[in-house]
Amino acid sequence: MHKDLYNAALDQRKTEYQKFGNKVDYLQQQNCLPEFKKCFPEYKELGSHALQATLKRVDFAYQRFFKGLGKYPRFKSIRHYSGWTYPCGSGWSIETNSENGYLTVSHLGRIQIRGKARTWGKPTTCTIVYRNGYWYASITVQCNPIRSTGTGAIGIDLGCKEAITLSTGEKINKPEFLKTGQRQVKAASKSLRRKRSPNGNKRVKASRRWKKERAKVSKLQRKVARQREDWLHKTTSKIVSGNSLIAGEQLNVKGMTASSKKGKRKKQKAGLNRSILEVGFDIMGGLLTYKAAEAGGFYLESPTRVLKPTQRCAKCWQLTPKTLKDRVHICSNPNCQHSEDRDVNAAQVNIIWARGQELTSIDAESPSSTACGSMRQLGARKRQKPRPCV
Ligand SMILES: [Zn+2]
Repeated sequence: MHKDLYNAALDQRKTEYQKFGNKVDYLQQQNCLPEFKKCFPEYKELGSHALQATLKRVDFAYQRFFKGLGKYPRFKSIRHYSGWTYPCGSGWSIETNSENGYLTVSHLGRIQIRGKARTWGKPTTCTIVYRNGYWYASITVQCNPIRSTGTGAIGIDLGCKEAITLSTGEKINKPEFLKTGQRQVKAASKSLRRKRSPNGNKRVKASRRWKKERAKVSKLQRKVARQREDWLHKTTSKIVSGNSLIAGEQLNVKGMTASSKKGKRKKQKAGLNRSILEVGFDIMGGLLTYKAAEAGGFYLESPTRVLKPTQRCAKCWQLTPKTLKDRVHICSNPNCQHSEDRDVNAAQVNIIWARGQELTSIDAESPSSTACGSMRQLGARKRQKPRPCV
């Protein structure tokens, strides 16, 4: 029913504009809802807020389209409809103390829930999600997440050979399962290509084997995605648990993945780009930011273009040009000649830069704050705002 409402709202916007040149906005559609429910009384049971949330989805799709972020909204089949939302407390209820419990959705029944939330709070919204053939319930709670942290300060450098290098010299390798998973996905996709795929123009239907193989490919892809997410969460949590000041570098992921099409050292860059996407570096900054904020610490990103951490010397701050092939930093400054592993050096440059930022912020606030004090205060101030956690 939510899907039909979505399509109806989309159809209204489309035909009103095409035939009469009227632009229908969200409020107009919301005001139509009571009339709509008179014609289709079965919709009354779904709850007006949930229906409004579905109309908002249509509006959201249009907003994305107008901003140039997405394609023109399409009509959805039930197979591709992603679910619905309860934007307030009505229509659902939850019985739990953060560990296991029951979720009751009106007209659907009481469902057992399993697992544990790290911090629990007041439940606010519930979204039923249908993805990859499975149904999920996503519940947001209003809470104040608190995380413990150490007093250390650490710099990190992301690379293609070792996934993460810390300024202490420790290296975290790219997890093995990514390689295995990719190999499996590749093999399954090859097998999929050999089966009869659907072709609408030639009126060819997909074969049963093709459908089966496609399900296998998406299952494998899902598994790798989940493993990667798990690994990222564990790794970032570990970094935050020991350090309250973390320094990384700004990644221009969009630019980096695009740059592999031309230019010097194309292949190496493509390798780095692939590993950025493979390991999920693009979301790592976000994870570190919120985890550090929860812990009352701070995560800073150095401006890579200006600072050039890979080329700068951590001892004398002099630049030494390098290619991706040079694995060891040997300072070109004759008075320094500092030699260090390339990635460790970059991580050290990052943390030195972050400490410099911290010192300037202390000067601005008060001379009495301690080494990590000002950053901690900033982090704490950030934390005070209750943040919904999913
Ligand atoms: Zn040097």
